[in-house]
Amino acid sequence: MRAWLQRWRETRTLERRAIPEPLWQLTLARFHFLSYRSTGDVARLRDMATLFLARKEFTGAHGLVVGDEMAVAIAAQACVPILELGLAWYDGFVGIVVHADAVVAQREFTDEAGVVHEYQEELSGEAMHGGPVMLSWVDVDEAGESAEVGYNVVIHEFAHVLDMSDGQADGVPPLPDRTAHGAWLQVLSGEFDAFCERVDAGQDTLLDPYAAEAPEEFFAVAAEAFFVAPLGFRGEHPHLYALLQGFFQQDPAAHAPP
Ligand SMILES: [Zn+2]
Repeated sequence: MRAWLQRWRETRTLERRAIPEPLWQLTLARFHFLSYRSTGDVARLRDMATLFLARKEFTGAHGLVVGDEMAVAIAAQACVPILELGLAWYDGFVGIVVHADAVVAQREFTDEAGVVHEYQEELSGEAMHGGPVMLSWVDVDEAGESAEVGYNVVIHEFAHVLDMSDGQADGVPPLPDRTAHGAWLQVLSGEFDAFCERVDAGQDTLLDPYAAEAPEEFFAVAAEAFFVAPLGFRGEHPHLYALLQGFFQQDPAAHAPP
């Protein structure tokens, strides 16, 4: 689309379909980490969430009705990571499927002896290349409280979307050049290895031990804590905090309440 036409459409959307003030204030109050930035940035987050709502399609699974309050809660949290990067980072998908609760998925894997093992995995969210993004409403709804332990399903899944923008889920989002790519790998892999050792040793960690599953999960879990528990995360992972601060071009710890 031509740039001027897109700008005109966006202006019209912001004028006609802006998130109503009471609903926006309710959303900020429920998810206090949304306001870990300047007043101007919070206003930009609202505009971005408005445009996100206009571009994406929400579907409730099994008859779930996705009301305005739910859609705004998801949009606002989804836009936090791209506040400085821009909404175009989410252009690769349109659909967001909301389930009432976690979804049980049937999985199987083949071990070294060739034996197939079947197991069930409970999913609070899932992101696939090209979409849709799946979210459990129970988990989204609890995000205000679970921020205390650094947990946020929306930011987790949308961090996967950013990671997969280059076609690969590997914990490395698209970066400007090879130098940035090399620096990213060095910090992320070092932090990931050290984290796995701590988890293996049974130590308590701020990040969910699930992050030890794979580098892409480590990145997504780290992004959650970076935005919703920034002070604790910076204290435990200063180098990783600096890496994410550079990528997201945000410093949530600067505004977070102690
Ligand atoms: Zn994940």
